[in-house]
Amino acid sequence: MKKRLMALLLCLMLLPIHTALADSKTEMTDNWYEIFVRSFYDSDGDRVGDLNGVTAKLDYLQDLGIGGIWLMPVHPSPSYHGYDVSDYYDINPEYGTLADFQNLLTEAHARGIRVILDMVFNHTSNQHPWFQSARNDENSPYRSWYNWSADQKAGYNKGGTQYYESRFVASMPDLNLDNPEVRQEIENIMRYWLEMGVDGFRLDAVTSFYTNNATKNKEFLGWLSQTAKAIRPDCYMVGECWDSLYTIADYYQSGLDSFFLFPMSLQGGYPAKILTEAEKKGMSLGNVVTLMDEYLGDYLQVPFLCNHDTDRIATALGGTAGATNVKMAFGLLCLMHGSVFVYYGDEIGMVGSGADPNKRIGFFWDTRMNITRVPEGANAADYPFGSLESQQENPLSVYNYYKAALNLRRDNPAIARGENTVYAMEDPQICVMERTYNGDSVLIVVNFNIDDVGIPLPATAKTYTELAGEVEIWGSASLDGSVLTLPAYGIAVLK
Ligand code: CA
Repeated sequence: MKKRLMALLLCLMLLPIHTALADSKTEMTDNWYEIFVRSFYDSDGDRVGDLNGVTAKLDYLQDLGIGGIWLMPVHPSPSYHGYDVSDYYDINPEYGTLADFQNLLTEAHARGIRVILDMVFNHTSNQHPWFQSARNDENSPYRSWYNWSADQKAGYNKGGTQYYESRFVASMPDLNLDNPEVRQEIENIMRYWLEMGVDGFRLDAVTSFYTNNATKNKEFLGWLSQTAKAIRPDCYMVGECWDSLYTIADYYQSGLDSFFLFPMSLQGGYPAKILTEAEKKGMSLGNVVTLMDEYLGDYLQVPFLCNHDTDRIATALGGTAGATNVKMAFGLLCLMHGSVFVYYGDEIGMVGSGADPNKRIGFFWDTRMNITRVPEGANAADYPFGSLESQQENPLSVYNYYKAALNLRRDNPAIARGENTVYAMEDPQICVMERTYNGDSVLIVVNFNIDDVGIPLPATAKTYTELAGEVEIWGSASLDGSVLTLPAYGIAVLK
């Protein structure tokens, strides 16, 4: 697979290359933010983050440049993380009430912020009444909602006299997604939240719905998508297909709006890999955008750098010692097509690796006393880049870099949505890309040299006369006629 991608990268060096996004998906692009409610912000002093805490920070998120939030599971659950649901129709009492959730929806929508819920349909909690009934009574109407075997086999655990499918852990019994009653219940659950005003869903573990059966997984995803869109045509759905670009492209055939682009994430992801190149970073950036469009140009792409299951991106890129790359990887991510997702706390360079709870610790707003309680099982809680409050004062902070990149993207929709043209540049450490959307064009220019350079703009159909925005690490850009001067690692957008 890697060889094939590299070959494709090499083939794409004859430029310029035009690629277009499918019109039907472009309107959906946005800047999204993933929130672990428990660790985000505590509104009532019990040191457990809650829904009112999220509502209290909506202005912060809007200012950051965010247009949508993904809430990790908010339903009642015996676990701290919530990925084993015991009631799909209610709110975890530690997080608040249904009224609090409805208020969050109202306040988010008033700010133009969409809200999607994390939906775990692969399995329930073993504490869910459906499973309790199914396990305790072989004649239960819920027995066939799960998968049973008389024999012990891989991925099954003992429950009563038989074994039940539970691929992740024994406390997460897999649902029988072939059972029409289960599908009807899933439809009811989606209808309940969509009619309340939820804007869509993040779908957990989509490659595990049917173990080792991509065909059936795609069929089920297609059914989920059609069912949700029949209830609310403008709802947005994104699936977790933790796999290669090739497999992700295959899963798009299901018809679901989008899938997270894992090949963009962490130190092995494209933005970080571009930064490890010695001499041709600019050329590589253009090639990566082209490559993604070759695979996924008909679809809504969803690049991201890390999430609640992975190491934090700031850890992956070396913490404070790698501060330049911590910023620049996100700057590059924000030049990709589609919707970017930011994991809460990445905008202040939060770190975390190893045990999952380390990746899900409290957001550092101002003082240590105001950080939410460390999730059970965490053995590290360090904040090498400091609090949000301290970073807001510092124009060179990770926070101000993220904010500039997200706002540049929000203010110039052509970046996420526009037809892309990559220009061949004499200096391969420079990248110049034009994006055209709704008849309007912007020119993206990136300087990967370690000093400022004057960049002669390519002669194009359009003359660019104005600096629309920039994201900088060490200085600022200036435009003089057809020469743009950019500092080291500077990103500018012209119009
Ligand atoms: Ca609380």
